[in-house]
Amino acid sequence: MIFTQNPVRWGLLIILSGVLDIYLSAYALQKKDVCGARAFSFFMLTIALYSIGYALEINGGTIEQIMDILKFEVFWASFTAPAFLLFIIQFIKQRDGQKSLWILLFLVPLFIGAFALTNDRHSYIYKSYELAEGVYFPVIHYEAGPVYVLQLLYLIGISLLGEVLLIIHMVRKGGTVRKQAALICLAGILPTASAMINPVRSAGASIDTQPFVLLLSGLILLVALLRYQMLDFVRVAREVAVDNIYNYLLILDRNLTVKDLNKAGRESELLKHLTVGSELTTEDFFFSYLDNPVSGKVHQLEVQGRYYQFTISRVLNRKSMTDGYVILISENTESVALMKELELQAIYDGLIGIFNRRHFMNLANREIAIARRNGSSIAVIIFDLDHFKKINDIYGHCTGDRVLVEISENMKNLLRVSEIFGRYGGEEFCIICPNTDGTQALIIAERLRRSIESLSFDETGQAISATASFGVYASAVLTEVRMEWFLEKADAALYEAKRKGRNRSVLVNQTEI
Ligand code: GH3
Ligand code: MG
Ligand code: MG
Repeated sequence: MIFTQNPVRWGLLIILSGVLDIYLSAYALQKKDVCGARAFSFFMLTIALYSIGYALEINGGTIEQIMDILKFEVFWASFTAPAFLLFIIQFIKQRDGQKSLWILLFLVPLFIGAFALTNDRHSYIYKSYELAEGVYFPVIHYEAGPVYVLQLLYLIGISLLGEVLLIIHMVRKGGTVRKQAALICLAGILPTASAMINPVRSAGASIDTQPFVLLLSGLILLVALLRYQMLDFVRVAREVAVDNIYNYLLILDRNLTVKDLNKAGRESELLKHLTVGSELTTEDFFFSYLDNPVSGKVHQLEVQGRYYQFTISRVLNRKSMTDGYVILISENTESVALMKELELQAIYDGLIGIFNRRHFMNLANREIAIARRNGSSIAVIIFDLDHFKKINDIYGHCTGDRVLVEISENMKNLLRVSEIFGRYGGEEFCIICPNTDGTQALIIAERLRRSIESLSFDETGQAISATASFGVYASAVLTEVRMEWFLEKADAALYEAKRKGRNRSVLVNQTEI
C-alpha cells in the first residue's frame, strides 16, 4: 500500500516529546538521592520510549514493521502507570517504600509486555488489525484482545488511584507542595482521560491522541521540576522538617487566609479547627497580635488551661509590604506548670503550705524597711510547741505532722492579712505584725496560745492536745536593722517562756532601735 501523506513532521513533533521526556528522566536521575526521583526518572523513560515508538510507527513502511514497533510501544506503555503510582507514593510519603510494592506493581506490566511481544502466536493483545490511510499519516486499526482490555483497565485504574492520592495530598498540604501536587495531578489526568475517551484505535480514528497528550504532560512536569523544584532535596527536606517538628507552623497570607499548617498544628487542640484555605477569625487567639507584630518577640498565652508561646514574623515583598505571616507556636504547658511548682516550692513550706523560712525572712526584712521609713513599730512573735517530741514518740511522726498542719491552719485563720506567718524551723513558727506595739503583740500571742491549747486532735478515738510557748518582741524602727536582730530578741523571750514552765507568752522589754 502506498500512502500520500507526509508523516515525518508529525514524527518530529513526537520525537521532540520523547526527547523532552528523556531530558526529564535524566534530570530526575541526577537527583536520585531524593525520594521519588528514581521512580520519576523511570516513569519519564517509559513515556519517552512509548513516544519514540509512536514516532517510528507512523513512519513505518510496511504493516509488519509497524506491528513490530507497536509491540514495543505496548510493552513500554504498560509500565507508565505503575511507575507513575510508585512515584506518587514516594512523593507523598517521602519514603522509598517496600520493595514488595515495586514487584507487585510491575508484575502485571511484565506479564502484559510478554503478551505484547508474542502477540503473533496467540492474538490476545490484537485480535485483528489493518493498516488504513489516516488524515495525517497511516494508522493501524485493530480489534482489542482480552489482554489488551486487561492492560487498559490496569493502567487506567492505577493512574486514577495515583490521582486520588495526589488530590488528598493537595487538600492536606499548602504552599509549594500543593502546587507541585496539582501539576503532577494534571500531568497524570490528561493521559488517563485520553485513554478513557479513546481506548482503542478504532476504524474511525485518524490519530492516536495519547503521544500528543503525553507531550503536554511532559511540559507540565517540566514546570513542576524547574519552577517548583519538585525534586529539590533541600526544599523537600525543609518540608519534612516542618512536618516533623513539634512546634505548630501556621502560614497566613495578607488577608489572613491559612496557606499552610504543618502536621503538629493540624493535630493540635489549639489549631485543629483551621484548614488550608480557611480564614482566621477574631476568635483566634493571635488575631489581635497581627496588627503590628514585632518579629522575633515571644508572646505568652493561656488558652483553656494550656500554655503556649509563639512568635509572629511578617513576610515582606520587594516593596517591603506585608505579604503574609509565619506564626510558630509551641505548647509549654508542662514547663509552665513546672515553673509554677518551683515558684511555689521556693516560697512555701512543703508540709504545711505556709511561707518557708527563706521567703518569710525576705518578707520580714521588707516589712522592717517599710517600718523604718514610716518610723512605725513592728512586732515579732515566735512560738515553739511544747514537748513535741513526746507527741511524735507516742503517736508517731505522721500524727505529729498532722498536728503541725492543723495548728498552722488554725493560726492562719486567726491572723490578719497584713500579718505574715511562716515556718521558722521544725515545730517553730514566726509572725511579723506591722504597725503593732508590744502590748498589742502580746494580746495577739495570747490569743494564738489559747487557741492552740483549746485544740483537740483526734487520733483513733484518743484526743491529743498540744500547747506552745510564745516569745514576743516589738520596737519602733529608727535605724537600719535586720530581721535576725529581731529574732534574737524574740527567741530570748521564747526561751524565757519555756523556762517559766511553757504554755505562756513572754514579752521582752522593748527598746527603741
Ligand atoms: P520543748 O518544749 O522544749 O520545745 O520540747 P520539744 O520536744 O518540742 O523539743 P524541741 O522543740 O527541741 O524538739 C522539736 C521536735 O519536733 C523534734 C522533732 O522530732 C519534732 N519535729 C520537728 N519538725 C517536725 C516535723 O516536721 N514533723 C514532726 N512530726 N515532728 C517534727
Ligand atoms: Mg518544742
Ligand atoms: Mg523546737
